[in-house]
Amino acid sequence: MPYEAKVDKKKSHSTSDQISRASRARKTLLQWHESHGRHELPWRKRSDPYAVLVSEFMLQQTTVTTVTPRFHAWMKRFPAISDLAVAEEQEVLAAWEGLGYYSRARRLHAAARSVMEHHLGEVPVKESDLLALPGVGAYTAAAIRAFAHDQHAVVLDTNIIRVLARWGNMITPIDTAAGRSSLEAIADNFFPKTGCRSLASALMDLGAMICTSGMPDCKECPLKDTCAAPAPETLPKKSPRAVITKLLEHRACFQRGDHLYLEQSLGPRWRGLWILPDLGSAKPSGRALAEITYPITRYRVTMKVHPVKSAIPAGLKGFSQEELANLPIPSPHRRAIAAILHTSHTNT
Ligand code: SF4
Repeated sequence: MPYEAKVDKKKSHSTSDQISRASRARKTLLQWHESHGRHELPWRKRSDPYAVLVSEFMLQQTTVTTVTPRFHAWMKRFPAISDLAVAEEQEVLAAWEGLGYYSRARRLHAAARSVMEHHLGEVPVKESDLLALPGVGAYTAAAIRAFAHDQHAVVLDTNIIRVLARWGNMITPIDTAAGRSSLEAIADNFFPKTGCRSLASALMDLGAMICTSGMPDCKECPLKDTCAAPAPETLPKKSPRAVITKLLEHRACFQRGDHLYLEQSLGPRWRGLWILPDLGSAKPSGRALAEITYPITRYRVTMKVHPVKSAIPAGLKGFSQEELANLPIPSPHRRAIAAILHTSHTNT
């Protein structure tokens, strides 16, 4: 096993030792999970594969706290996969608001249509069928197989990766090919042939509640007797971070009466959503009406919004405050618009 050389030799001597160590760890972990797990999470209470599919898309880049109310609202609005498949894209994007990364909403919508068209409305079980759905990569396919169908699948999300990397005392950076291979070897030993749903939930909860990033609470951990990490707070290791680049963008505010004019984005990130138009060649003058900062991948963007009095360009559309409330608008632009409306309200 690639990770054998990395683990504490006192605690791990052979493959059979490792199998027995993993077996003991699973037992104590599952016992702990019965009484301490996050069984109240709404997607844990539902076993229908569609609910699992939705939750996995939502949780891809968004926290449990943010996802929970959005998940309830989504399931109320699109209770079955057939409801989502027939919905208009604008309706789907509006329902996604607050979760960010709207491309996930489009892919979930497309996945629902594909399930209706190719799988008679049943979320597939086979890995190859799942991987053929839009937006479903290796992690999401494994999660759906484990959580929706209780199939054998090694689920590796951030929490589980942290727990396993520490439990196996993995010192190779996890974002390298060698690290990935070591981690998979540890996970293959740890995940059972049956009962992956319970085990994956238990590992996730342990990572969220006890084996947290920073200093873990090892005294309370059900894995403390089998864990090989002498300095868990230093794990998992990662390659040095990419440098964050600062960007400045200028946007235009065309406000006439109680209407604000927006354009529909054609860009890959926010395609179909409504945004403040680019200021273009017009020079910003005076103080910006709004200034907000937001992160995108390795960039930190500062957006400044300036009032523009010239004629409204073709392609923009005016919206009242009431209409803006129900329009799909990406979160940075929504924040900038709120600041503009607050300023114009306090100036009248
Ligand atoms: S003993 Fe500590 S480092 Fe090991 S799995 Fe538990 S919380 Fe994490």
